[in-house]
Amino acid sequence: MLLDNTKNGFTLKSNFELKKAFFLFKIISNKTLTNIGKKALEISLKFRLPVLFLVKGTVFEQFCSGESLDESYKTVQKLNDKNVKSYLHYSVEGQENEDSYDLSLKEVLNSIEFVSQKNILDFTVFKPTAIANSTILQKVSENKPLDKNENELYKKVYERFDTICNLAHEKDVKILIDAEESWIQNPIDEIVLKMMMKYNKQKTIVFNTSQMYRHDRLEYLKSLKDVAEKHNFFVGIKLVRGAYIEKENERAIKNNYRSPICDSKNSTDINFNNGASFLLSNLKIFSIFSGTHNEKSIYKIIDLMKSIGLDKNNPKIWFGQLYGMSDNISFNLAGEGFNVIKYLPFGPIKEVIPYLIRRADENTSVKGQTSRELDLIRSELKRRESIKFLQ
Ligand SMILES: Cc1cc2nc3c(=O)[nH]c(=O)nc-3n(C[C@H](O)[C@H](O)[C@H](O)COP(=O)(O)OP(=O)(O)OC[C@H]3O[C@@H](n4cnc5c(N)ncnc54)[C@H](O)[C@@H]3O)c2cc1C
Repeated sequence: MLLDNTKNGFTLKSNFELKKAFFLFKIISNKTLTNIGKKALEISLKFRLPVLFLVKGTVFEQFCSGESLDESYKTVQKLNDKNVKSYLHYSVEGQENEDSYDLSLKEVLNSIEFVSQKNILDFTVFKPTAIANSTILQKVSENKPLDKNENELYKKVYERFDTICNLAHEKDVKILIDAEESWIQNPIDEIVLKMMMKYNKQKTIVFNTSQMYRHDRLEYLKSLKDVAEKHNFFVGIKLVRGAYIEKENERAIKNNYRSPICDSKNSTDINFNNGASFLLSNLKIFSIFSGTHNEKSIYKIIDLMKSIGLDKNNPKIWFGQLYGMSDNISFNLAGEGFNVIKYLPFGPIKEVIPYLIRRADENTSVKGQTSRELDLIRSELKRRESIKFLQ
């Protein structure tokens, strides 16, 4: 099978790096060890113990591309040599206040400028809650009235989105907008729709994210198609399953409403694949950025592309994976000529620790994914060992 080729998959990893990755995934596959590690890190940071070098040599190296844009660019170039593109994200989670939102805005604008100066980069990204007050987003989502001050702040949110999308449009840089929890997503969808209407007239610059673990998202995609046909603009969609399942279900139970999440993993898988099929069948309007590590979904998309007669490198179809995960997917797809892109988080080590903890937690809870990583590394190490033996 195309994605099983570990020689291509780990082409950039030395034996030492592979063994280190194996050790790391082994630890984070164990919930108890992960929790102990998190607690130890928290205490060490509190008492200012010198542990950052340990973080740097392990999880940071595995899941982050560097501490700055320039440092990360070396990784970008290495990946590009293997036809894997990158998009960089300053993964520092700021405070919930206006100064912090303005700072994040600056970071996003910098990243757009950076991408526009490098001809091997096409995309950049931002997380709406890095530039917007989530309490206000929630109020808007629930149709609750905003007072004068909140109205002003909400206007500012819109202006930040507009400033970002305007620069992305001017510099011809594609911009991915992450999806958040369902209770704040409605106003994000509304603002992004306005951005797409304004900046996606000639080509697709602005991409919204659709979380297909939500049972209402296929309808959402269909409604986008209708609006886009009526108003003549293109729609970019980052298609993902969704990252906040526990939070979503817990909140629905607590507040006694129907969870927006599909009732089983299988329903999410079907919904994701139906979403992909819908987008691929409507490429006149949509561009699809498929953010998944699920190999079955990737094979499904490849089969659909074949059956529709689309080129592997169709400029409207991208496959995205996170840095440090599913390299077998990235390098094998890229080797076959598909458009592949890695999400590269970067930032000062201490500041990206919340991102790293989320990565560790996700790998602990997504059991299948971690054991898949371990199996692949194990089989590549064996393959290299057997070659050495034959030589
Ligand atoms: C490039 C990229 C960008 C991303 N951007 C975002 C983003 O902006 N916003 C966001 O929310 N997430 C984002 N994600 C994360 C993504 O939503 C998934 O959480 C993650 O990729 C795991 O899903 P998967 O498709 O890779 O594969 P799988 O491992 O096959 O699927 C796991 C996912 O299935 C769903 N699931 C699991 N159990 C159940 C169940 N019992 N019932 C219903 N559904 C279930 C959950 O969504 C879970 O995360 C991104 C991922 C990538 C690779």
